[in-house]
Amino acid sequence: MANKNKILIVEDDVNIRNFLVALLEANDYQVVTAGSCKEAIMMFTTHVPDLTILDLGLPDMDGTFFINEIRKEWSAPVIVLSARTDEQDKVEALDTGANDYITKPFGSGELLARIRTVLRNSRRNCELGVFQGGKFSLDNLAIDYDTRRVYIDGVEIKLTQTEYNIVCVLSQQSGKILTYSAIIKAIWGSNDEGSTKKLQVNMANIRKKLGAKPGEDSYIINELGVGYRMKDKND
Ligand code: CA
Repeated sequence: MANKNKILIVEDDVNIRNFLVALLEANDYQVVTAGSCKEAIMMFTTHVPDLTILDLGLPDMDGTFFINEIRKEWSAPVIVLSARTDEQDKVEALDTGANDYITKPFGSGELLARIRTVLRNSRRNCELGVFQGGKFSLDNLAIDYDTRRVYIDGVEIKLTQTEYNIVCVLSQQSGKILTYSAIIKAIWGSNDEGSTKKLQVNMANIRKKLGAKPGEDSYIINELGVGYRMKDKND
């Protein structure tokens, strides 16, 4: 079928690679593979996949090199699949341009769900054009980008300009984790010492205004030590 999504798997561990190929083909994806960073870049430019699943620990170079290379020209989503559980590694991969990060060992169901989410978001961003007007809705939350207003159950929620900007940035990439520094850069343009604190204070106010009880995730999920993610319809 011509309309199958094509996925590039970059993984040097043959067992994991074979498992991924079987899993994805069984779920109707078209699959191409690479076992090193150099091969991955070649396969990517030849096949232009809709999505790449990327191991970071590759024999020739670190997988982040691949992300850096393709991000010069392409916006196709990348899901990092790595044994590295360190938060710093997650932050680095996401800041380099990965769309999501899954830690090994992973569940098949979880991986397939993340693939669907990332593919849907990239399609939607193509259709809407990120940061153009329009509306966002999720459960009882509605955002009108043209009038910069936010509603819950049809009742307007009063946000400050900064709070609105944060909600706007998160909603326009809903489903994706945005790191603290990515949000800070988008909102304030630069990252200084007080920025993280400023972001946390704003976020606490936003969550309160959106009706979150302490310790509870309502619309915005706090990925501890990494960043924030606006839920999407799959959550
Ligand atoms: Ca590896």
